[in-house]
Amino acid sequence: MREYDVVVVGKGNAALCAALAAHDAGARVAMLEAASEDESGGNSRFAGGVMRFAYASVDDLKRVTEITDDEIANSDFGTNTREEFLDDLYRLTSYRTDADLSELLVNRSLDTMAWLRSKGVRFVLNYGRQSGLVGGKRKFFGRMPIEASGGGAGLVQYLDATAKKAGIDVCFETRAVALVYDGERVQGVRVKQKGKAAEFRARCVVLACGGFEANPEWRTRYLGPGWELAKVRGSRFNVGDGLRMALDIGAAPYGNWSGCHAVGWDRYAPEFGDINVGDQFQKHSYIFGLLINSEGKRFVDEGWDFHSFTYAKYGGEVLKQPGQFAWQVFDAKVKHLLRSEYRIKFVTKAAANTLEELAPQLEGVNAEGFLKTVREYNAAVRKDVPFDHTIKDGKGTVGIEPLKSNWAQPLDTPPFEAYATTCGITFTFGGLRIDRETGQVLDVNFHPIPGLYCAGEMVGGLFYFNYPSGTGLVSGAVFGRMAGAAAGAAAKR
Ligand SMILES: Cc1cc2nc3c(=O)[nH]c(=O)nc-3n(C[C@H](O)[C@H](O)[C@H](O)COP(=O)(O)OP(=O)(O)OC[C@H]3O[C@@H](n4cnc5c(N)ncnc54)[C@H](O)[C@@H]3O)c2cc1C
Repeated sequence: MREYDVVVVGKGNAALCAALAAHDAGARVAMLEAASEDESGGNSRFAGGVMRFAYASVDDLKRVTEITDDEIANSDFGTNTREEFLDDLYRLTSYRTDADLSELLVNRSLDTMAWLRSKGVRFVLNYGRQSGLVGGKRKFFGRMPIEASGGGAGLVQYLDATAKKAGIDVCFETRAVALVYDGERVQGVRVKQKGKAAEFRARCVVLACGGFEANPEWRTRYLGPGWELAKVRGSRFNVGDGLRMALDIGAAPYGNWSGCHAVGWDRYAPEFGDINVGDQFQKHSYIFGLLINSEGKRFVDEGWDFHSFTYAKYGGEVLKQPGQFAWQVFDAKVKHLLRSEYRIKFVTKAAANTLEELAPQLEGVNAEGFLKTVREYNAAVRKDVPFDHTIKDGKGTVGIEPLKSNWAQPLDTPPFEAYATTCGITFTFGGLRIDRETGQVLDVNFHPIPGLYCAGEMVGGLFYFNYPSGTGLVSGAVFGRMAGAAAGAAAKR
């Protein structure tokens, strides 16, 4: 048996932030990671690394990263004011996001980014994915101009290095299986460590071990039939252990347990994420093309908003289609706008000089249905509005269902390209109810469970139905830091 002030379960972004904050509060900290060192780091390591936080000016951005005078003179960074960030959260979650939690996330987001920087994380401007040249000026769109250098893998690496310097112990291949609970307070965790049963005693435990996205049985149970067929975008270790352990001792479930973040993902991607490919199986440029199902039909408004505000929901729409797949179809006019993920080696792609030649190459698709859909779509595109990919341009369709609201251009310029996607699940929305001041887990009577905290994907109540891109990492950092600081302080009391 080993003893610490604070034991953190997991070693992703939320766990690392919790461990560092607990250490800063003077606690002796250990992190328990189910994965081996090679596979450690959770979904955080697979993340693209874009981060959404509130900023109202360039000075706010400069708290997070260096920006040169030249960059300032030649860029339009836009804003993501607290109001804009909150509006996005409310709009996308159909006004179901928990008011206190979302406000806390938004209000602490900038300060937490500056804190991450102080913990050694390097941030850079997001030129690659969220910007375009407009009238000679670099315009950042989607309210997210900054990302972690090296993506999620870089973020984890920086935090790992700081945790190591701080002397925080990390135990790999150590899977938490149950909480040590005397009926009143949590006193540690039981683990399976390299095949052997063991126990870690602690005055406080922070659970930061992800949702249940990698557990096909729970996905079917909570998200619904068919979800066992989704591919897992990231870590194979997030199987709901933390949620189960907490529910077992009477923690209150909270949030959208039948909801999750899921995206269009290469149809033949492996069952779990591949760290060498990272997030690149995703296909997020569908806003410039058409999404086609096995009947050859469209089934969503591809241009409802920037991909940042639709991609997390459209994976689930793909899963609902017969055969759980959809082809994304583009013409040559938008080829230069396709994101880097369309140019990776492992990609399921078809190409042809005419739509008639392309149709039979779309495996599993009714060719006649597809050609009819494109004819009708092409005829429905508004010709009186110019195309502009840096704004919601209002260049939509008229008289077809579903509508395409923005970025609609006829598919008429060869060569044509198509990419086969299925549903890739990122993380689940259902979680635990926490205290708003401390991140302490509440029981079913809404009383704090002494000694138990949680953070990251395990926090329930923030996301319902949909999600604004870049919020997962910031949420993990805000709530991880809060839980770690409170657990560290409580352990030292
Ligand atoms: C492909 C992909 C791309 C993404 N891109 C972005 C992005 O660009 N921006 C963004 O904000 N978000 C992104 N996300 C979402 C983001 O990565 C997650 O929301 C966030 O990383 C979750 O952090 P976490 O610490 O809660 O969980 P994780 O990082 O998943 O960490 C959970 C940890 O718990 C461990 N664990 C699980 N069970 C146990 C157990 N029983 N005992 C011990 N350890 C256990 C796991 O091994 C892991 O170390 C992306 C996710 C994926 C998969």
